[in-house]
Amino acid sequence: MYTKESLAVVWLKRDLRLQDNEAIQNAIKTGKRVLILFVFEEFLIKDPHYDKRHWDFIKESIHDMNQHLIPYNSKVLAVNSELAATINQLQQFYNIRDLFSHQETGLLCTYHRDLKIKRYCHNNLITWTESVWNGVLRGIKNRKGWVSKWKTYMEAPQVQFHPKNQLLTIHEIEELEKQFSATNLTTSEHNLIQKGGITEALKYQNAFFKEKYLNPKKEKDTINTESCSRLSPYLAWGNLSTRQVWQSAKAIRPLSKNKKDLDAFTARLKWQAHFIQKFEMEHTMEESSINKGYQMLKKNISQKYQIAWEQGQTGVPMIDASMRCMNATGYLNFRMRAMIVSFFTHLLWQPWQDCAVYLSKMFIDFEPGIHFAQVQMQAGETGVNTLRIYNPIKNGHELDANADFIREWVPELAHLQTKHIHEPYLMTPLEQGIYNLKLGTDYPLPIIDLKANRKRASKILWEMKNDAMVMEENDRILKKHTTNDSFHHAV
Ligand SMILES: Cc1cc2nc3c(=O)[nH]c(=O)nc-3n(C[C@H](O)[C@H](O)[C@H](O)COP(=O)(O)OP(=O)(O)OC[C@H]3O[C@@H](n4cnc5c(N)ncnc54)[C@H](O)[C@@H]3O)c2cc1C
Repeated sequence: MYTKESLAVVWLKRDLRLQDNEAIQNAIKTGKRVLILFVFEEFLIKDPHYDKRHWDFIKESIHDMNQHLIPYNSKVLAVNSELAATINQLQQFYNIRDLFSHQETGLLCTYHRDLKIKRYCHNNLITWTESVWNGVLRGIKNRKGWVSKWKTYMEAPQVQFHPKNQLLTIHEIEELEKQFSATNLTTSEHNLIQKGGITEALKYQNAFFKEKYLNPKKEKDTINTESCSRLSPYLAWGNLSTRQVWQSAKAIRPLSKNKKDLDAFTARLKWQAHFIQKFEMEHTMEESSINKGYQMLKKNISQKYQIAWEQGQTGVPMIDASMRCMNATGYLNFRMRAMIVSFFTHLLWQPWQDCAVYLSKMFIDFEPGIHFAQVQMQAGETGVNTLRIYNPIKNGHELDANADFIREWVPELAHLQTKHIHEPYLMTPLEQGIYNLKLGTDYPLPIIDLKANRKRASKILWEMKNDAMVMEENDRILKKHTTNDSFHHAV
């Protein structure tokens, strides 16, 4: 009788790499032959937090993994389907009892999907082994000892990729592709958005280390890239593990001419895990304020405001430049992300949930764990963090003194003198005539009264800080999420 060959399946999620990939390593350790699988799941493609730009980034990452798999005569099987349906179909040809992946700290819909997969595996006698993702721990109740565990994880040797002729061959995978709705890995041209893949990730990492820490130049950075590695999409989609980046940074430290900044960079890598850990332990943050006291804050939704903000048509140049830059490139630095959220939630007085969804679609590095916590923090709805209501005009003068950034992204203002460009609405009709710019027609007048709205937000939010429930929740949050970190007490 014909017996089907046993196969170990690796289910790739946000770990699109070969090196330091524990799921792949565990599959190889079974001694069975191994199939590396990515499933483009329809429910996630349709989810409002995701955009075509993310699926293209994933396709580019898989394409790049395939290049790295050529010496092993293998490739990733990429299909448009659901995981359970894919495994059922694979069972026609192979005997599958072992599934490997990383733990996912994702959206509520992926959590429910994982519960379904757990039941499916149980019912079909499949053992599903999930590895720890970047030091984020499952099932812990508070942060006692968390920092040292994270550090131990970061310092542990990387998992090496050494398959011993175990990977399914390209020919075998091509035969399987005929049985499935195989994904076409061709992507559209997004000239301004970072491309996915291990190769690109290493290019960014090595160039950043060289320019910032090994051989720093005196050149002035542009406003949106200052001290930024631009590694966030590669970390979010796992083209590099945080451990790989952390260990590379530590390895160059003895040679670095800029050790203080390098240490600040590795500290930010810890924030990544810190925030994702917070989300892992408090998943309701996707939809509700972590501090339940703020759930009573009701804001009226204005479609007009939200659309103007999304399209970069608010009449406030620094906000409009930031929004248009993000829409086109998928990226903004931390300060500008904070500023656009503050503008939306404080000055336009709109619910943070609405901007969280739009921004997740636009950020190529969308990482649920960091994203929802940061949006809530900038919206001033955690209670435990400092309340900051950004003044976009002041920030414009400070960060973009010559207005190069505004000129690049708001070309209708590019010809104005710098003294007018941050606040074009202060121009007299005569000045508008001189510059041939009709406010309200060529560029919008501000959609709100900046000063009055700032005052309203400040008053309401400062008063709420003293609310009994907000304060009670502060205690709960501090007990649950404060790290005993000597470097900084993160909440
Ligand atoms: C409203 C808002 C939403 C955000 N959403 C995301 C998101 O979806 N995905 C995401 O990766 N980052 C998010 N951030 C955090 C931060 O802005 C980005 O990580 C950073 O700008 C990415 O650029 P970089 O890789 O050049 O960062 P670098 O400064 O070079 O930092 C290196 C890495 O450290 C981590 N990191 C840096 N800053 C933070 C931070 N404040 N919190 C947590 N981790 C950090 C990131 O993984 C980053 O790639 C958000 C910040 C705000 C204010």
